[in-house]
Amino acid sequence: MKMNLKALSNSVNQEIKDLKLALASMSDRMPDPIDAGCVVEQLQSLQNQLRFKEQYASRLLVAMKKQNNGEFGYCDDCGTDIPTERLQLLPDAPCCVDCQSIREYKSRAA
Ligand SMILES: [Zn+2]
Repeated sequence: MKMNLKALSNSVNQEIKDLKLALASMSDRMPDPIDAGCVVEQLQSLQNQLRFKEQYASRLLVAMKKQNNGEFGYCDDCGTDIPTERLQLLPDAPCCVDCQSIREYKSRAA
């Protein structure tokens, strides 16, 4: 299973940079009291996107480490092969669909 995680990670890091720049330029601007609410909403949405991308980037780093160790494509929890289609969709997936649903079940129960 060969995937170009490096290129993917580079593009995610670029998006993170762009989001940070957008956030910085927004917080520099003094909002008009009338659009203040709107600006706050935009800021929150950018911050959410940034948080999401950063989490994605850190999962990609883990996936790249696994690729270097020859462990990429195997489920962290049960060691089974993760189907190629799943990895193409979610290259950062740490585990197979079955284990993922167990994880989600556990995180809901907790
Ligand atoms: Zn599994």
